[in-house]
This record gives sequence, structure tokens and C-alpha cells, in this order.
Amino acid sequence: MRAEIIAVGSELLSQARLETNSVFITQKLKESGLKVMRKFVVEDREEEIREALESAMRGSEVVILTGGLGPTHDDITREVVSKALGRELALDTKILEGLKSRYQRVGLKMTDNNLRQARVPEGAESMENPNGTAPGIFLREGKTLLFLLPGPPREMKPMMGQVMDLIGRYKQLTRLYYRQLKVASETESGVDSAIGSIYTSYSSIETTILSSPGMIELMFYWMGEANQQLAEDQLGELVTRVREKLGDSIFTDREEDLEQVVGRMLREKGKTVATAESCTGGLLGKMLTDVPGSSEYYRGGVVCYSNDLKADLVGVNETTLERFGAVSEQVAAQMAVGIRESAGADVGLSVTGIAGPGGGTAEKPIGLVFVGLSSDQVRVKKMSLGGPREAIRIRASRFALDWLRRSLL
Ligand code: ATP
Repeated sequence: MRAEIIAVGSELLSQARLETNSVFITQKLKESGLKVMRKFVVEDREEEIREALESAMRGSEVVILTGGLGPTHDDITREVVSKALGRELALDTKILEGLKSRYQRVGLKMTDNNLRQARVPEGAESMENPNGTAPGIFLREGKTLLFLLPGPPREMKPMMGQVMDLIGRYKQLTRLYYRQLKVASETESGVDSAIGSIYTSYSSIETTILSSPGMIELMFYWMGEANQQLAEDQLGELVTRVREKLGDSIFTDREEDLEQVVGRMLREKGKTVATAESCTGGLLGKMLTDVPGSSEYYRGGVVCYSNDLKADLVGVNETTLERFGAVSEQVAAQMAVGIRESAGADVGLSVTGIAGPGGGTAEKPIGLVFVGLSSDQVRVKKMSLGGPREAIRIRASRFALDWLRRSLL
């Protein structure tokens, strides 16, 4: 089944805002067998909205518009859609009562502007918006199901459940069978050459490989006949074969991040960790503390960017610094040992490297990073990471997290 999305909002065409609603909507539609064929991002202008709408309705059975349902004069989606469909706007008393009680609850006076939000095209059904004042609107026009949703992502996202229920009322939805695997400390080409011959041998499974610094996400979608048993068997077999090839590089088969997996493992083993960072400037600590409840296992860390702080805060030997330089195996080892001891943690994790764009030499090029891990013994890994400064810093942090994970297996 074909779907199209129209994101309305002049700011989405400026450099100030990234259009993200369609990404979320596409995923939700895909899970029920709907394919997004086109997306439009249009100005808050009648002509643009109208043209996109007419074009989308010609080709698709489901059309979703987001944005422009607010109370201000530039929010015109509701009016333009009713005009384009030749329907009058009528006051919906249920919405009006809802708005009145909402304003009463928060002690604000409702203005005439807000009344506009209680008007819907004739024959439309309103949809509840638990996080805002603008209700969603659902319309049927010929064979097309048309949805108008509010623009703010935190209002739009919780409403997609209602959208899918309404689509299911009129169209035959299919369930999407898929599996995912997330891989750390491998390159995209390395992963592809390891598993390419496996996934290409399944003609009914579509594979996507999404790469971000230090992490690769594999998605396997069942595209064959709607047979749950067959889909699950084939996906299960493919995943088993991929696991045999990639082994411990796979850190999860769920929608979770590396730091969540590491956190769970530390908690299960009753271990604590502390960090000493140079080139990552606290990013490793930030990732660890992104996880709620991380105080259970993260003791804390230091950012020792300068040489004197490497000596003062984590006890790196000054002679070692002079002899081998701050970016060296020896310094990474001493940083890991030093932070482990001073924090009283079970594991000390350190990162020192050259993130660029300046500072590289022939002997120590940009992207050279040492990660130290101190537990019952101390070990250091040397890496040559590619990409711009930010990517090097993310890769280095993710590599450190992944090494910690592997050490806990
Ligand atoms: P309201 O005016 O009541 O907030 P609305 O439905 O009129 O709701 P807009 O005014 O169009 O929504 O958008 C409000 C904000 O929501 C925008 O400034 C933008 O930050 C965000 N937003 C809107 N559409 C999108 C989108 N497609 N992707 C990402 N963010 C969006």
C-alpha cells in the first residue's frame, strides 16, 4: 500500500530546523506494510500545500500531513485542506469542550484564535492529541485516507497509534517481520564482506546496513508472502548465520545503545568503572551517564587534556610523558591504572589520541588513538581512526565502551 507524507512549515525549509517527523512516520507505516513513495516539505502557503496534497492524493491510499494546525495566522493547513476538498469547516463541539476544559485546567484564557482549532472539515473525525491543543483530523476522500497531525514531534509521535488503528479500520494491514542486529568496533565494508554472501542468498529478505561512527546497524526485513511461520523461520536462520560470522561484535538484537548494554552488564556483574579522557573530552563519560541509573556502576571520570593534569589528576609519570608523549601506549596504560586507583573502581578506562584536524605528524597521525583498560591487569589497544574530528571522538568513545563490554563477557 502506498503512502505519502507532507510536512508543512516554512521553518523546515530553512537551515534552522531539520524535518524529522517523516522519518518516524515512515517507520511506523513500514511496520504495517505501507510504503512511503514520496515526501514533500512545503511552505505554509496555500498554493504549495494544495499542490502537494493534490499530487499525493492522486497516487496514494494514505496521505499524512503534519504541521500548521496551531492557532496562529500562519497555521493554515486545516483551512487549505478543507478548501481543496471542497468541504466547509464546521465547529466540532467535542473539540471545543476539550479545549475549554484544557484552558481552564491551566488557568489560561482561551482566545478567539483557539476557536479555529475546534473547526474541522465536514465529515472529518477528530483525533485526540494528549500533548497539545491541536487535535488531529482524519478524513476519507475517495479511496484516500487523509490525516492532519500537529507539527511538534512530541505531539505527533504519540498519535501514530491512532493513525494506524484508523488505517486498519479501512485497509488490510500486514505485519512487518524484521530482525535487527547492532555491531560495534567493525567497519561497514568489513561487515559487508563477512556477511554479504549470506544475506544476498535470501531473496525474500531485504537487508539494510546503516553505518554511524563506531557502530553498524543491520536490519533484515521480510518481503515475502504474509506467512508468519515462514518469515520467522527464514529471518531466524539468517540471523543465526550472521551471528556465526560476526560473533561477539554483535552487541544487541534490540533497540538499545551500546552504553545501555554495557551498563546492564556492569550492573549484573556488580562492577564499577571510572574514566580518564583526553581527546574525547568527556564524551565517554557522557555516553555512560546518558543511561538512567548509571550512578550504580559509573564512579565518575576526569578530563585530563593537558600534560600537567595527566600527571596531577591520574598520576601519569612525567618522565613517561616526556619520553613517549601524551598520545602513547604507556600514557594510556598509566591513565587507566591511575583513575581506577583514585576512583576505587573495578575497571579504569582511558582514552588518549589525536582527533585533528591539526596536531598530526608522520609518526603520530590524526586518528591515532590509544584506549587503556585496567582491571586485574592493564592492557592498551592502538587504533587508527578515520573521519573528521567529531567522528574520531565518537568512534574512540564507542570503541572504549565496546572493549569494556567485551572484557565483561
Ligand atoms: P503548534 O503551532 O500548536 O505548535 P502546529 O501543528 O501548528 O502546532 P507547527 O507550528 O507547524 O505545528 O510546528 C511547531 C514546531 O514543531 C516547529 O517549530 C518545529 O520545531 C516542529 N516541527 C513541525 N514540523 C516538523 C517536522 N516535520 N519535523 C520536525 N519538527 C517539526
